[in-house]
Amino acid sequence: MRALVDEKIRHMPAAQRAQSWTGFDANFSEHLGAAGFIGMHWPEHYGGRSCPAIERYIVIEELLAAGAPVGAHWIADRQSGTHLINYANPSARNACLPGIASGKLFFCIGMSEPNSGSDLASISTRAVRVDGGWRIRGAKLWTTHVTRAHMMIALVRTSDADHARHQGLSQFLIDLSLPGITVNGITDQTGEKHFGEVFLDDVFVTDDCLIGTEGEGWQQVNDELSLERSGPERYLSSYRLIPEFLDTLQVDADDIGACTLGEIVAELWTLRQMSMSVAGQICNGADPSLEAAMVKDLGATFEQELPHRIQACLDGGEDNIRYAQLLPVLDYLLNAAPSFSLRGGTREILRGIIARGLGLR
Ligand SMILES: Cc1cc2nc3c(=O)[nH]c(=O)nc-3n(C[C@H](O)[C@H](O)[C@H](O)COP(=O)(O)OP(=O)(O)OC[C@H]3O[C@@H](n4cnc5c(N)ncnc54)[C@H](O)[C@@H]3O)c2cc1C
Repeated sequence: MRALVDEKIRHMPAAQRAQSWTGFDANFSEHLGAAGFIGMHWPEHYGGRSCPAIERYIVIEELLAAGAPVGAHWIADRQSGTHLINYANPSARNACLPGIASGKLFFCIGMSEPNSGSDLASISTRAVRVDGGWRIRGAKLWTTHVTRAHMMIALVRTSDADHARHQGLSQFLIDLSLPGITVNGITDQTGEKHFGEVFLDDVFVTDDCLIGTEGEGWQQVNDELSLERSGPERYLSSYRLIPEFLDTLQVDADDIGACTLGEIVAELWTLRQMSMSVAGQICNGADPSLEAAMVKDLGATFEQELPHRIQACLDGGEDNIRYAQLLPVLDYLLNAAPSFSLRGGTREILRGIIARGLGLR
């Protein structure tokens, strides 16, 4: 893994590596797929290697620590593929999984909408049953990599629930090249068009695009969110700063810098233990949604504060030559960090889940 990453990204600038799991490079994904590092924990007949999930975890850690541009296949490898294995019918699985594992088929997550983010059950995109399938109408927003993805797994309403809003929701596999779909990129604070909006205007999908059971989308989407919330990417988004900061200390170490680095590494290691424990629970078929929410909340706080903690250690001489490598990374992460506690569920929502799980509300 290290040899492959070194061969492919040896010359990639540190600021680009700082984009980490949002950095999109279709060629890199294809190389990784050809080397057998995507969908490694899936069965062989879907293009996987039946590896224990923990092996995949280790590979992912290596990729993130190196700042490899894994964004193109990230969502499909992390959650969409496993979700299809868990819930989709055989034709959808056979149509998608080998393409994902080869690093050529990219997915995005169609949950949030213009008026529904935290309150996901209030979505208004709707699928209506028609001859041979469904017609879907509505809009999705903040959809990561939607301008470059091929497929979306979308949560939509398929029936009205009188009192229980969490009923009547379903998930669909949507090919983004279908007629009736319009996609626009949205520029974020770092200047990247990393996410976007999707309009679905009576898009027809066949019956086998229904994922799982009609009306059970809420439980399914929560299972999907457990896959999304606890991986090493939830505390490694600002990781690039650590080796760059270490390099500056090797030129000229001071006590404040050394102590800060020690604290950071100790916290990082604790988060790693927590995150690996959730990976172990998923491996054993448990439902760690509460623990996953804790890792995401603590991890997002850690990776969000990291740029500010390191900035506070720069001795006021930001024109100092020893910061030349560090500053572009710091600049990018200071701009990107506010989103870390929004994407994948906001801090307040996660703390609500944790409080409920602990019986506090
Ligand atoms: C970088 C990035 C990538 C994203 N990628 C995707 C993606 O690929 N797919 C996708 O579907 N979505 C994606 N999102 C959207 C993300 O999931 C939502 O932004 C998030 O869930 C919050 O929803 P919202 O933006 O509508 O804010 P709101 O839900 O309107 O929340 C606004 C504020 O109010 C607070 N709040 C809301 N409800 C409560 C409550 N009950 N109690 C206390 N506080 C509350 C929130 O915590 C937040 O601070 C992405 C977002 C970002 C920033």
